[in-house]
Amino acid sequence: MNKKRVLSGIRATGRLHLGNYLGAVKGMIALQDDPGYETLYMVADVHAITTPYDIGKLKENRVEVVKDYLAAGLDPEKSILFMQSDVVEHLELAFYFSSVMSVARMRHLPTFKEKVKQYPEQATMALLNYPVLMAADILIYKAEAVPTGVDQEPHLEVAREVARKMNERYGLEFPEPTRFATSGENVPGLTGEGKMSKSVKGSFIELTDDLGMIKERLAKVPTDSGKGEEIPGEGGVVALLKLVELFEGHEVRAEYEERYRSDGIRYREMKKELAEAIYQELAPMQKRRAELNEDMGYVTEVVRRGAERAREIAATTVSEVKEVMGFPGD
Ligand code: ADP
Repeated sequence: MNKKRVLSGIRATGRLHLGNYLGAVKGMIALQDDPGYETLYMVADVHAITTPYDIGKLKENRVEVVKDYLAAGLDPEKSILFMQSDVVEHLELAFYFSSVMSVARMRHLPTFKEKVKQYPEQATMALLNYPVLMAADILIYKAEAVPTGVDQEPHLEVAREVARKMNERYGLEFPEPTRFATSGENVPGLTGEGKMSKSVKGSFIELTDDLGMIKERLAKVPTDSGKGEEIPGEGGVVALLKLVELFEGHEVRAEYEERYRSDGIRYREMKKELAEAIYQELAPMQKRRAELNEDMGYVTEVVRRGAERAREIAATTVSEVKEVMGFPGD
């Protein structure tokens, strides 16, 4: 049977949070456990330099993400786990790909515009090229499925466009990758505005948070009187309800919605129960993480071996592309 390839990655910009876990990692695990797929998961460390960064923190974060992956259940016996920067072919392919994408197309991406607003002084070529590098990350393995949150959809569209252009222009056969969605594809932030994100203070719960910290973070979610005819369409209450749905189930969410329209929700109790449900899911991961901390040799070996396996596939694709673009090997 021909297995379908899967590629996904998380930037090495900090500890993983519930959004990363529910939107990306859970999908990564589902596909890893499906024998119909061959899965490759990387730490996107090169992507971390597309916005201003601290060298020391980058070094630390790239190892932390591997530990988070392993602790959450990614298994090197089932998936190829590696550091993006260890497979230099990604960067080479990204440059070839950049020759088929226009500057105008890249500048109009909503994600680029947002980041330029956030860092007006540091809108670099690397930032503009981010989605092209992501296209290379995926297409270098001819991956067809990409488990990732809904925020990455515009980037996947770029990857499909790159694939089409390369195929038309050079007669290649890149697949057009699609997103593998999970029920947590869009986890809201705890501030009540936008998505949960590493770069938005007060918006996230990290996978390493203990029960006390989870309670503290949930305590800050803005709420209302707990009662009304209609549940507000956005804000802290919706964020809480979404988390209840994801950690306690649809039925519990429906009960709270019912209560909102009748006796009213008691948020203190709701937050306490939610914190416990979240912690229950995180506790086994935290235990595994503590064990990994005692065995860093294993962690290093996992990514060393992963890079070796990934490079074999990546090098073949780059040779094919070079050949048809006018750089035949000898
Ligand atoms: P962040 O925005 O926190 O820096 P990344 O950009 O590194 O996270 O995203 C890593 C993965 O996690 C991507 O697949 C992304 O779609 C997913 N992800 C990030 N935030 C969320 C969220 N709030 N809900 C669902 N998925 C998310």
